[in-house]
Amino acid sequence: EIRRLGFIGLGAMGKPMLSHLANKLPPQSKIWAFDVVDELVDGMCAQFPNKVYKASSAKDIADQADVVITMVPEGEHVRSVYLDPQQGICSSDISGKLLIDCSTIDTSTSLAVKEHIAANFPTASFYDAPVSGGVIGAIKGTIAFFLGCAESDPNLERLTYLAGLMGKEIIPCGGPSFGLAAKLSNNYLSGIIAIACSEAMDMGMRSGLDPRVLARVYAAGTAQNTICDKFNPVPHVYPEAPSSGGYKQGFKVQLMRKDFALALDMAKRVGSRNVLGEAGLATYDGASKDERCRDLDSRVVYRYLGGDED
Ligand code: NAD
Repeated sequence: EIRRLGFIGLGAMGKPMLSHLANKLPPQSKIWAFDVVDELVDGMCAQFPNKVYKASSAKDIADQADVVITMVPEGEHVRSVYLDPQQGICSSDISGKLLIDCSTIDTSTSLAVKEHIAANFPTASFYDAPVSGGVIGAIKGTIAFFLGCAESDPNLERLTYLAGLMGKEIIPCGGPSFGLAAKLSNNYLSGIIAIACSEAMDMGMRSGLDPRVLARVYAAGTAQNTICDKFNPVPHVYPEAPSSGGYKQGFKVQLMRKDFALALDMAKRVGSRNVLGEAGLATYDGASKDERCRDLDSRVVYRYLGGDED
């Protein structure tokens, strides 16, 4: 049973994830929350009085809680949240505690944090547990968790219980940092598909085809995939796709750029040949800097590549 939980990083993903925990953990359990943006913490405390309590630093969280979840943007933030000598989680005595990082970061930073913890607090456990499914999935409680552990891990039951309160599918990926490797591999694939779908749709439409006919052809043919079906980059092919709402809801193009760059670093390190990688990174990098695309759903690459939106 988890009585004392800590949560760090109350952004677009962290806030709805914490809300699920506050709603679903048993009444006797308490949650301490921390974010560098004070108002985000105050907001959660006001929403869940007698359940969510304000902490003053990551160290304070680790002092109070037995289980800590972190959800911050990038590797540098994970490093400072865990390793800052005065304010970090590891400046507290975290012996016996369970630490779960859900941020999407590079595998090397994650392994460095894990090694630091193993060396200094042999009874503490650290896991990478990145998520997929976006902000809407986090709100609905349908995100997937990719756990950096084996099926036989002694903490799998507790990890699965907690992840199950925030999401649906929970996949132990094999070992430390494998959750992140799986997540980056997934986002590389889905990012490439979005570009390929944008190009193929544009080519077909310029040949005179109706975009809805093209989408039906892919769905019936060998090109069938979720991006073309439910996240089609061309507006009004699928009414609930971000593209149909002006690319406003969804997975920000800058986040796809970040994940893509992380995936390519990983490819380089492990020696896989990703011939589409450089083109993909250049596309997401360009779209991230383009003011017609910045801050919009990553499928806005269709606009970036010059697709017709009428
Ligand atoms: P976000 O920028 O909305 O939220 C991050 C939060 O972390 C912010 O509130 C920020 O103030 C806080 N933070 C930063 N540094 C901190 C520190 N040192 N101490 C405490 N708090 C700190 O980002 P997000 O969209 O919630 O994404 C978080 C992570 O989840 C990222 O790694 C992202 O790639 C990943 N992710 C995002 C989505 C998505 O659709 N947004 C989907 C899956 C995974």
